[in-house]
Amino acid sequence: MSEKVIYKECCVIGCGISGIAVARWLKKYNFDFVVLEKSEDIAGLWRYKENDYGVMSFTHINVSKYNYSFSDYQFPKESVEFMHHSHIYEYAKSYMKMHNLYDYTKFNHQVILLEELNKSDVLYSENLKFQNMDNYERLWKLTVKVENREIVYISPYVAVATGHHFAPKHVKFPGQETFTGEIIHSVKYKNAKFNKMAGKKVLLVGIGNSSVDIADNLVTQGECTSVTISSKSGSWVFPNYINGYTTDLYPSRFMLSLPWQYTTIIYENLIKFICGDPKKYNLNPNSRALQYHPTVSPRNIVKGNDS
Ligand SMILES: Cc1cc2nc3c(=O)[nH]c(=O)nc-3n(C[C@H](O)[C@H](O)[C@H](O)COP(=O)(O)OP(=O)(O)OC[C@H]3O[C@@H](n4cnc5c(N)ncnc54)[C@H](O)[C@@H]3O)c2cc1C
Repeated sequence: MSEKVIYKECCVIGCGISGIAVARWLKKYNFDFVVLEKSEDIAGLWRYKENDYGVMSFTHINVSKYNYSFSDYQFPKESVEFMHHSHIYEYAKSYMKMHNLYDYTKFNHQVILLEELNKSDVLYSENLKFQNMDNYERLWKLTVKVENREIVYISPYVAVATGHHFAPKHVKFPGQETFTGEIIHSVKYKNAKFNKMAGKKVLLVGIGNSSVDIADNLVTQGECTSVTISSKSGSWVFPNYINGYTTDLYPSRFMLSLPWQYTTIIYENLIKFICGDPKKYNLNPNSRALQYHPTVSPRNIVKGNDS
């Protein structure tokens, strides 16, 4: 084992929005904890980085400020309802300050190995300092890279808040080898200028939220020859607003208490009433509106064709 061993009652891995929320409640309940963050700052993918995963330079959140906020810290009344990523970063920083969470966070601490330890072995061999060891069922060893050395944390609880978007999933298409154009994953797309999209003919594969955001940016800023979205299963595209209220305000407790098969009928009819039948835009969804993660777009998609 490396020379330095630190005992904590809980280790949180990652200081994105999820890690921050965990840290706030660990602090509230007087846990002896630490947040280990591999980068030099907080907020994970909401902190814009040109050369790393995360938001695009133009990303506005697609969940309104009423729903995407910490329960004990609302966004100011005057702030817009769908915020630019820079506001979410600032908001996360002020939440960290409000709860003194910086004092509990170690930056440039990358967890490189997480192993379960045999509790009884550790008790005797490592002189474990937890007072109520009988209360804990399991024990974890975290190997952490700090610059060019390694330190070890030992802890009965670990909260893994490392996010689920940092490793892009690359799909291989038949015939791709002979394609002479450029193929990039959305994680590499930052904005039309950065990615030098002017004059290009672009096909976006898939119709999730990143795809519709990129399409919007390409159409408004890209000076592209054409922009097309392709999708194998189609989609319901939700508008950001319904009747002047953010769409995500409608899933009330009543709606959420219904089986989703009923709620989806209400949503589908609302979308059809406001935006028109998705079939009219060649969106051709082959699933129900609430069956999968919703695609949300402030703009209507212009009808393409099947060719
Ligand atoms: C482009 C894009 C746009 C999105 N837009 C929306 C949106 O509009 N609305 C919405 O609700 N959701 C959106 N999301 C989903 C987003 O994933 C969640 O909203 C949320 O921000 C995820 O936070 P997180 O803390 O779980 O993960 P992340 O923000 O990814 O944070 C993970 C943190 O863990 C750190 N970390 C990772 N591995 C280690 C390690 N081994 N050791 C130490 N630290 C580590 C990372 O450095 C990072 O700081 C979007 C995602 C993307 C990619």
